[in-house]
Amino acid sequence: MTQVIETNTAAGEETVRVFFAIWPDAAAKRQLDELAERLEAVCEGRKVRAENIHLTLVFLGEVSVDRLDALCLAANEARGTGLRAFDFAVEEIRYWKHNHIVYAGTSGIPQELLDLVGALQSALSAAGFSFDHQAYVPHITLVRKARCPAPSIELKAGLPELVQPVVWPVREWVLVKSEQASGGLVYIPIGRWPLA
Ligand code: ATP
Ligand code: MG
Repeated sequence: MTQVIETNTAAGEETVRVFFAIWPDAAAKRQLDELAERLEAVCEGRKVRAENIHLTLVFLGEVSVDRLDALCLAANEARGTGLRAFDFAVEEIRYWKHNHIVYAGTSGIPQELLDLVGALQSALSAAGFSFDHQAYVPHITLVRKARCPAPSIELKAGLPELVQPVVWPVREWVLVKSEQASGGLVYIPIGRWPLA
């Protein structure tokens, strides 16, 4: 997903690449990292570093530094709508052939997750931010540049099954800056909002 959303910037302004996301707690992170390691062995490619494993809620792309305060205010607005904490059960492994990504997800999206994404999208739209309005498909990228044996997007053949779901307790969401560093991609949290 490299589509650049350019409408959050004005010419000549300093920008940052940002997105709203949730990050796994230590136990979920360890389990997802172990899973990524197993998948890397099956599918080749390169696994996402443990500290980078996350679930994107809303991707904004390049945003003017001057608009970061407005972005945080929009998140405050979303929080004010009484969003609830929840447990996210990760129980599916899938392969996107078109971009060679192996990801984990769920067959049943929790209502609290849909509420969180919906509240953020509404607050961001009201504050004049642009983002992709396509239907939300929660996906946790685990391996990139994969060559899975699965012959189609939906077929799971060749991929290991998750014997037990990874239970990910979701208690807050974050605003994250995405930067290319010499050691690879780094995600730097620049704001946090708790769930009730
Ligand atoms: P890379 O682009 O180097 O493969 P990445 O996709 O993890 O790494 P970013 O491009 O900064 O890093 O994206 C941050 C997050 O936002 C990722 O979870 C990514 O899947 C998601 N994302 C990126 N572009 C889009 C988009 N156009 N629509 C929705 N989500 C996106
Ligand atoms: Mg990307």
